[in-house]
Amino acid sequence: MPMLSDRPPSAGAATADASRTDALTALRGDYPVFAPGEVWLVGAGPGDPGLLTLDGLAALLQADVIVHDALVDARVLALARTGAQLQFAGKRGGKPSIAQEDICMQLVSHARRGLRVLRLKGGDPFVFGRGGEEMLALAAAGVPFRVVPGVTAGLAGLAGAGIPATMRGVNQAIILATGHDPDEGGDLDWSALARTRQPIVLYMGLRNLEKIAQALMRGGLPASTPAAVIASATLADQQIIASSLDRIASDAHAAHIAAPAMVVIGEIVRTRRQLLDASAHAPCGAPRPACED
Ligand code: SAH
Repeated sequence: MPMLSDRPPSAGAATADASRTDALTALRGDYPVFAPGEVWLVGAGPGDPGLLTLDGLAALLQADVIVHDALVDARVLALARTGAQLQFAGKRGGKPSIAQEDICMQLVSHARRGLRVLRLKGGDPFVFGRGGEEMLALAAAGVPFRVVPGVTAGLAGLAGAGIPATMRGVNQAIILATGHDPDEGGDLDWSALARTRQPIVLYMGLRNLEKIAQALMRGGLPASTPAAVIASATLADQQIIASSLDRIASDAHAAHIAAPAMVVIGEIVRTRRQLLDASAHAPCGAPRPACED
């Protein structure tokens, strides 16, 4: 069963709600109205609440029930209006997660009860977030819905680490891929990806990193290709390991890197080192990546 909890009332909660709504109006002007019986599929961003969108905030300030994943930061959930019901629908501590069909059914049944239903996911709902399936289920059930895009971890994490997703003269494309076990279905042609010589960002790539790195090297990507793992991107405990394709898996393992983490493989990773070197000699106030490796 999903875990339910009410956002606890606190002293001055009504005042805090009103001041957030006033701030949203001042920043956004008219914001979209969450009608009873609607479901909003919203991306909460990669972690740092500063990367939530204003429409994400509008959703939190109006929703009656918030069905959220494990990756949604507690500080984002704390923006929910007082009295909103929080429902956890993610993976926790290796326990089996709620089946996707059950989540879809619950979204539909909450909406049919006339609730304003916020389906809140880490990053962007449509980037390895199963938001597409939920949207189709809602459409099939005739439930009105809205999609609010979010800042995806794969791009925000790179930016926060001082790694531009694209650099003129370095890459002309960027590949967002899942590193989920190929045995779980839908294996990627890693050799084909290697041949593009374009950087690859791996979501959920930590567990199979050794296997994937080997496959990319078999596909012709040099062992010396720069690679990095970025864990807890945009959060206070962010960790960055910079290495090379042949060593990244063992280096990440040795550093006890924990999820959530993503991997970036490609020449763009070098920019981070260039930035660190440059900013060591730069005047005070020059931008520096948030963490050292
Ligand atoms: N929809 C999300 C991705 C969900 S898949 C998005 O657009 O960001 C979950 C994977 O995303 C994690 O296994 C990890 O690879 C990545 N991820 C999410 N948040 C992250 C973070 N703060 N730091 C590093 N990786 C993150």
